[in-house]
Amino acid sequence: MKKFDYQKLADELRHKGIENDCVLNAIAQVPRDQFVRSDLKSYSTQDSALPIDCEQTISQPFVVARMTEIILKRKKQPEKVLEIGTGSGYQAAILSKVIKEVYSVERIETLYDQAKKKFEALSLKNIHTHYGDGHLGWSEHAPYDAILVTAASPEVPSALLDQLAIGGIMVIPIGDSRHQALIAITRTKKGFKEQTLDPVIFVPFLPGTR
Ligand code: SAH
Repeated sequence: MKKFDYQKLADELRHKGIENDCVLNAIAQVPRDQFVRSDLKSYSTQDSALPIDCEQTISQPFVVARMTEIILKRKKQPEKVLEIGTGSGYQAAILSKVIKEVYSVERIETLYDQAKKKFEALSLKNIHTHYGDGHLGWSEHAPYDAILVTAASPEVPSALLDQLAIGGIMVIPIGDSRHQALIAITRTKKGFKEQTLDPVIFVPFLPGTR
């Protein structure tokens, strides 16, 4: 099996502004080639999104690192995180290196099955996977200290707001297919606070399962 060097990718992300060492270590450690299509493995060290099965994409490493860094920038470190949109499983794998328990929901059964197998093969035992519509979150394990949505939605699904712990943070790309921005929503005792972050491009957040 060809080995790829992800330390260079981590160094590139540091130059691009990622500051959290735990996140950069996770990027250097996780074999991204295991999460991309077999014909695209040699591109896995590049800081770019790539196509995966079922017309979806594996996110750009910078965006994965940025979203992870944002949820770690809290006074109280998040221990329980919900990811919506397992996709390739790469974001969940990065989270699993810096967070105690990771819960991840995917609406496409093929991708759900593939990701589950990858987590088993890599012994990422703290990732829990669920096949279902992420609009509903995963109420069984709520509340979550942080929620990451990795597909773009015109609005914030209310079930996800309900499942966010007080003191927790949600990061979600909001917008249509052409214009999206990462939004950070924090929950306080009194309600929710919203902050607009970077412009991004994600695949759409779709209803139901397939
Ligand atoms: N986090 C992924 C990004 C994958 S792309 C990675 O690191 O590779 C976004 C994923 O969100 C796709 O797999 C898509 O099927 C999924 N998705 C879109 N709408 C969804 C929904 N309502 N519930 C769960 N997953 C959804």
